[in-house]
Amino acid sequence: MTKDKWLTIEDVLNRLPSGAVGTDARALVRRAYEVAQQAHAGQQRDSGEPYIQHPLHVADLLAEINFESEVVAAGMLHDVLEETKVTPMQLEEQFGKEIRILVEGVTKIEDVEELTTQDDIRDLDLQELESLRKMFLAMAEDDIRIIFIKLADRLHNMRTLGFLSKERQKRIAHETLEIFAPLANRLGIWAWKAELQDLAFRYLNPAMYEELAGLLDARKTERAARVEKHIEMLRQALAKENIAASIKGRPKHLYSIYRKMQRKQIPFARVYDTEGLRVIVASAHECYQVLGVLHRLWTPVHGEFDDYIANPKLNGYQSLHTAVISEDGLTTFEVQIRTREMDKVAELGVAAHWLYKEQNAVVTDQMRDYIARMRQSVRDLTQDAQDTRALIEGIRSDVFEERVYVFTPRGKIVDLPEGATPLDFAYHVHTEIGHRCRGARVNGKWTPMDYALKTGDQVEIISGRKGGPSRDWLNAELGFTKTNRARQKIRQWFRHQSRDENIARGRGLVEQELKRLDLRMTLDDVAELFTKHYQRADDFFAAVGTGDVTSDRIVNRIEDLIQKRSEQALTIADLEEESEDEADAIESPLPEAVGRVDVQGAGALLTRMAKCCSPLPGEEVIGYVTRGHGVTIHRRDCANILRLEREERERLIELDWGVQQDTFPVRVRVTAYDRAKLLHDLSTVIANENVNLAKVSMGKRDRYNIITIHMTLDVPNLSKLNRVLGKMEQIRNVIEARRFVKP
Ligand code: MN
Repeated sequence: MTKDKWLTIEDVLNRLPSGAVGTDARALVRRAYEVAQQAHAGQQRDSGEPYIQHPLHVADLLAEINFESEVVAAGMLHDVLEETKVTPMQLEEQFGKEIRILVEGVTKIEDVEELTTQDDIRDLDLQELESLRKMFLAMAEDDIRIIFIKLADRLHNMRTLGFLSKERQKRIAHETLEIFAPLANRLGIWAWKAELQDLAFRYLNPAMYEELAGLLDARKTERAARVEKHIEMLRQALAKENIAASIKGRPKHLYSIYRKMQRKQIPFARVYDTEGLRVIVASAHECYQVLGVLHRLWTPVHGEFDDYIANPKLNGYQSLHTAVISEDGLTTFEVQIRTREMDKVAELGVAAHWLYKEQNAVVTDQMRDYIARMRQSVRDLTQDAQDTRALIEGIRSDVFEERVYVFTPRGKIVDLPEGATPLDFAYHVHTEIGHRCRGARVNGKWTPMDYALKTGDQVEIISGRKGGPSRDWLNAELGFTKTNRARQKIRQWFRHQSRDENIARGRGLVEQELKRLDLRMTLDDVAELFTKHYQRADDFFAAVGTGDVTSDRIVNRIEDLIQKRSEQALTIADLEEESEDEADAIESPLPEAVGRVDVQGAGALLTRMAKCCSPLPGEEVIGYVTRGHGVTIHRRDCANILRLEREERERLIELDWGVQQDTFPVRVRVTAYDRAKLLHDLSTVIANENVNLAKVSMGKRDRYNIITIHMTLDVPNLSKLNRVLGKMEQIRNVIEARRFVKP
């Protein structure tokens, strides 16, 4: 892993792409080398090497990813301001303003190493934060290429980290894993990212690193043989189709194997896809042909196919990804398929684009946007940070995640992390718009507030004249907000209310929750459940009021309590007696449903059991599409089915019993201002939660246009019920949705 080969200036010059640079470019890099060589003369690295080896390696890394000679020269000179007597003025005189700005920029971004005076690794957060902030601010204010030089600098420092003290190793490795590797990933330089991660892993967890390296090594022969065999099988299959391809084995790096073991909680022995194949062909069209051949040769793993050719990643990455099961069924392996151009971008990152002049402008703009965004995020998040850890998490998720680009009604582009909702959008546009948000239209249509925005969506926020955010917006289960920025603003709003107000709101909310779920408990009973964290009841209610304690946390506690109290799971069931006759109720035209039945490949359907054969769950069934009354379910051997005429048989559909779950029927009452499609919207929420709507009846409208809807839902537990009720209450015009027990 340690690459400590000594370089000469000739090595670096040979790296410069011959077509893209003339003699001037080579002369510039050589001149930079001469100045650096002289300035660093007599200095040594901790490894004992002459200091000039470090800038030579940094310049070499930059040349390798196709940077223009100015950047390579700046890489060569990157340490002269900090480590030698050379001044910025001298730099500008000899190399011009551009290079002076680049070198100064790199110098400005201090490492954690320089910021820290203590050895306590737990103090890292603050220093990391400071370093991150400086880095982003410097990048935004100066030149984005500075960050590439900084990354190359870090990569070479990581390669030679072995010569430092253990404490310094850990500190630098930690920072590398937390900041520099994600940054390399965002900029699309995967080769650097993977190496930074592996090196950091090696110093942070040496025991595990050695163990994995050893295990991988032990499997080496066996693995190599298997890869060879797969390459040969694929080569022959492709030859038959006349597709010329280059196929390579692709070892996975250690850190990603380690992450997988952690994520899936499995031992090394069960990480099968420790290797993969990469297939390079001439055209995108051929990529898809290869995919076809591949999937005929081996069985694809369900859900593991990604088409990044049709949907490139934001950093420009394109490829087809799939995973297949080997012919003996014992292992799975991943395959990436792409063209030569795509491969270049994947290996070298966006920088590879810079060779192609016509794409230059686009890429640069995109990068500039990205940096500007990071900067804004860092500023926003640092302004009112209380908890540093939360702040770093915030930066990480808001800044490093994939993005979606959406439009304001006036056509302004807003970009948000993937999965962001209309509320996130509202808070992004303006805090006040977030607080007053009461609904959203996406592409002209009313949209649920937990909708995940897609690139290209046009979002319009409907806001009230006054009023504040809802506590539900902080409820992670409801999914109304994704970004930390929005959540922070919401919490802030609640914190700024007075303590008395928060206590009062908290009590009101708990009361409402108890009523909604029809739980016979007092407020003090609930506060009692939280005495460990909140000794006084009022502290608890205040925390509920500010949104620090969420509704699902409360419901989970209550559920635990109920489960503890009695072995019988909940008492929902005995609260539900079917009432067939409600004086003012009109039975809906929906057929009575029994259980949930999935039509093969078409999701959930409301269905009716045939009276002639009354099939039971598990028996072989078939559906008959009636005229206007949905689907009737018969036993396959039902006489009525066997007797059907040929044309009638057209109406039969294949059915499968859905996954059976222990559920309880719960009666729910919804009050709402009546409007078109209200029932449709309610049933959509129910269906999206995978809950069966067993029964529904609508009352008459009163003179205020308020309608009452009774439903019976089959739910597995209280939390689920709570979630469905919460989501129903978010539907436009709904006043209240609660569990309802007949008096
Ligand atoms: Mn350096």
